Amino acid sequence: MNLRSFLEQMETKGKILHVKDEVSTRFEIPFIIEKSVNEGPILLFEKLKNHKTKVVANVCGTRKRICEALDIDQNKLYNRLVEAWRSPRKPQIIEDGLVKEVIEKPDLSKIPILTHFEKDAGPYITSAVIHAKSVDGSVENVSVHRLQVLDKRHLAIRLVPRHLYKLWQIAKEANKDLDISISIGVHPAVMLAASSPVPFGVNEFDVANVLMDKSLRLVKCEHVDAYTPAEAELVLEGKISAGSEVVEGPFVDITGTYDVERMQPVVEVVGFMHREDYVYQAVLPSGSEHRLLMGLPREVLIWKSILKVVPKVHAVNLSLGGSGWFHAIVSIEKQLEGDGKNALLAAFAAHPSLKHAVVVDSDIDIYDISDVEWAIATRFQASEDLIIIENVRGSTLDSSADQKTGLTTKMGIDATCPLTKPKERFERAKTPVNKHIEGLASKLLGE
Ligand code: MN
Repeated sequence: MNLRSFLEQMETKGKILHVKDEVSTRFEIPFIIEKSVNEGPILLFEKLKNHKTKVVANVCGTRKRICEALDIDQNKLYNRLVEAWRSPRKPQIIEDGLVKEVIEKPDLSKIPILTHFEKDAGPYITSAVIHAKSVDGSVENVSVHRLQVLDKRHLAIRLVPRHLYKLWQIAKEANKDLDISISIGVHPAVMLAASSPVPFGVNEFDVANVLMDKSLRLVKCEHVDAYTPAEAELVLEGKISAGSEVVEGPFVDITGTYDVERMQPVVEVVGFMHREDYVYQAVLPSGSEHRLLMGLPREVLIWKSILKVVPKVHAVNLSLGGSGWFHAIVSIEKQLEGDGKNALLAAFAAHPSLKHAVVVDSDIDIYDISDVEWAIATRFQASEDLIIIENVRGSTLDSSADQKTGLTTKMGIDATCPLTKPKERFERAKTPVNKHIEGLASKLLGE
């Protein structure tokens, strides 16, 4: 299982749009991705100005596709992720792999790295899966980071104070640069594992291996002490400097607004390996793929948290309009009055960046925003069913939050049917037809 085998699978299902017209990595490809993102196909750009390489985008752009990559039904996805987080298994390390077909001197200008938006600081790598070890070798970590191209051999890396940041701090205290592998073009399971909120000390490659039915294979890099998937499209070998920092940004984050500029460490690129005819993978900042990869693992945390207070949680959607991060829609099987509000509190506790949450009954399609709005219109009373919590910690990604303290106001909407009023008043009218007519309608009108 690798990116290419997944693309072949999607090709047979007609889910790849081949772009044969010549396009530029500078604004043109990002513009086309942006126009297509919501539930759109995978895009394969085959003819680039100034590059011989192909660019693939929107690989994990829909929930359905992520499930297809893991070969699982959507209703089993959360359980599958929880199981992989709980019992990670070491992948096999092999001597040689397809990613080592070509080993050459690094030159970032030869790679079709995209320049996305008008005010961006420059070209950015956005699909980088980064592996590193602690100085003493006891801890390994894999995570996704954006990388700004500084010149042919240097990148600036955005390190949010999480696990890779911690490994870098430890190396810095020992006066050492931190070796990293930067893998680009990997199977969706590796992307999803690298975005998972597992604790410090868990190697996300081990999580990916479980998601891939133990078929992940790693190879050791040539110039640094780090590993990469043996069948990655390309890998940059790098060292995060212990002493050198630069201004990183401006760059667009998950909300589609510009993140602030910060001093961030420099990565020296010391090696470059790739498949002979490698495909470069792009992820559009703030596109549905970016939002899904960040949001989906958080949905699992919200789901697990609400399950502790309400016996049955149907589904969770960190909706795309909420940037896949700030808005949760949750459907539950309500048993007692008050379940809706308890579910809201549990959702806020599970995901500190969550700002607005809506709880509905299981007859509402939480992926259809009109349906959710209908539930609010017919089942919700603001004087009784609204929760407002002031001055709690949110996310500075939210432009309206206090940018210094991160404090924000959270709102919860309980749009479940009140059990104190007659049930029939909330029932949605149905037309009783048989399977034949249902089939006919979907044939005539599409799904
Ligand atoms: Mn980690």
